Amino acid sequence: MTSVAIDGPAGAGKSTIARAAAKQLGFIYVDTGALYRTIGYACLKRGISPRDSAAVEGILSELQIALRFLSGEQHTFLNEEDVSELIRTEEVSMAASHVSAIPAVRAFLLDLQRGFAKTQSVVMDGRDIGTVVLPHADVKVFLTASAEARAHRRWLQYREKGISADEQEILREIRQRDENDSGREIAPLRRAEDAALLDTTELTLEESISQMISLIRSKIS
Ligand code: C5P
Repeated sequence: MTSVAIDGPAGAGKSTIARAAAKQLGFIYVDTGALYRTIGYACLKRGISPRDSAAVEGILSELQIALRFLSGEQHTFLNEEDVSELIRTEEVSMAASHVSAIPAVRAFLLDLQRGFAKTQSVVMDGRDIGTVVLPHADVKVFLTASAEARAHRRWLQYREKGISADEQEILREIRQRDENDSGREIAPLRRAEDAALLDTTELTLEESISQMISLIRSKIS
């Protein structure tokens, strides 16, 4: 069993790059952000503030979250409903960022995440995979890019989907999430000491993917 941990800030291209790398290596790709998003989504749906830790903790026992891999693609289920698309809004992103600072939420998701790497080779991405979830991962990569480059890419993604969005607003949200994710007390976003750094600011997506794959191969061969 081989595990690859990829961490980094919002919009660094983690999911696209990790997914492509997993496919080439024949590993399962696990997007852990989807788990935090699902809890954020559940709060919004129930009218609970994602910052209200007592209230959020109170609903955790009602949430059954599962990741299923259908034709190699990760689908996220909340109480048997496929929420994979519903959790991709900016509102849910921000809610996820808030709930992720709650210790009970992180504890709730820890075993679930570790379970995936026990039975199969994985490429797992998130914020604390190399530092907390899989501290003994075979390969650790910290993937980053400047906030401006990340905002621009997000904006292009929205445009491709026909969604109109304001790039400055996206940049503000990215900075806000960076601050939340790096500044929180529990499992803050930081590069593990033994993680390789991959900065994609000046790289195309294809270049980023190929550098990621070379990096992984050099560590596991
Ligand atoms: O990666 P993604 O943008 O989908 O993650 C949504 C939010 O979930 C992040 O902003 C972060 O606050 C939180 N998260 C986390 N730890 C992870 C993955 C995501 O705290 N391992």
